[in-house]
Amino acid sequence: MDIRTAQICKSVVNFEIEVKSSSGKETYKVIYGRVPQNLKLTYAYEYGWSCTCKGFTYHGKCKHIEVGKQSRCGWNEECSPTFGYEEKCPGCGGPMESIQVSV
Ligand SMILES: [Zn+2]
Ligand SMILES: [Zn+2]
Repeated sequence: MDIRTAQICKSVVNFEIEVKSSSGKETYKVIYGRVPQNLKLTYAYEYGWSCTCKGFTYHGKCKHIEVGKQSRCGWNEECSPTFGYEEKCPGCGGPMESIQVSV
């Protein structure tokens, strides 16, 4: 097994967007990122969506997250196998992130 560095859009691991409520009066923060899965296994992380609105707090889901999913780029190397090193994401122009992957 080999370890190599792969490039992904930062939005794949960390993404934040502000979404307005349907009344337009409030703004909620929709976040995608790491949430600790198991406190005993400090290296075990799960990636997931969260939102600061009441609907998410009570039901664990809301429509703002759908907006977040549509706005998130989520580009990774597999989208473009001939991709070389780039500073900016070809998908959204945002920052890139390097991750270690085993191949
Ligand atoms: Zn929400
Ligand atoms: Zn991107």
